[in-house]
Amino acid sequence: MSFRIGHGYDIHRLVSGRPLVLGGVKFEVDYGLDGHSDADCLTHAICDALLGAAGLPDIGHFFPNTDPTFKNIDSQVLLKRVVASLGERGYKVINLDSSLIAEKPKIAPKLNAMKTVLASSLGIPVEAVGVKATTNEGVGDLGRGLAIAAHAVALIEQR
Ligand SMILES: [Zn+2]
Repeated sequence: MSFRIGHGYDIHRLVSGRPLVLGGVKFEVDYGLDGHSDADCLTHAICDALLGAAGLPDIGHFFPNTDPTFKNIDSQVLLKRVVASLGERGYKVINLDSSLIAEKPKIAPKLNAMKTVLASSLGIPVEAVGVKATTNEGVGDLGRGLAIAAHAVALIEQR
């Protein structure tokens, strides 16, 4: 058996007039993340962790923000494509862990929903998906609520 780990990081600016989607779950607030796709920074960080584990280029290489095909696309579609692409290369996802850094909104009530959606996209049990949330304690631009960031690590196995 051959195990490989990968790390991903992403950040998107908070703006008004955009839907807020994190981990494939919509938040009922009047602001959202700016970006070409649905700007789901958690799911993008997870995609990058998986691609990195397989030694592949990052999400921007596979889904460029200059391509109109990906305008406002549901990032779960991108994540499923990443998992399928790893599958074609003989890799299976074992588990992943992730952290959201968000001053607002409150993330905790949606954690389980996010895990369920991500587990489904990843094709792994919900127990194999970690999603945690913290604030930046008011420090810096993240602390002022100007953006939401996410870190993710993933373990994959070569069959
Ligand atoms: Zn992103």
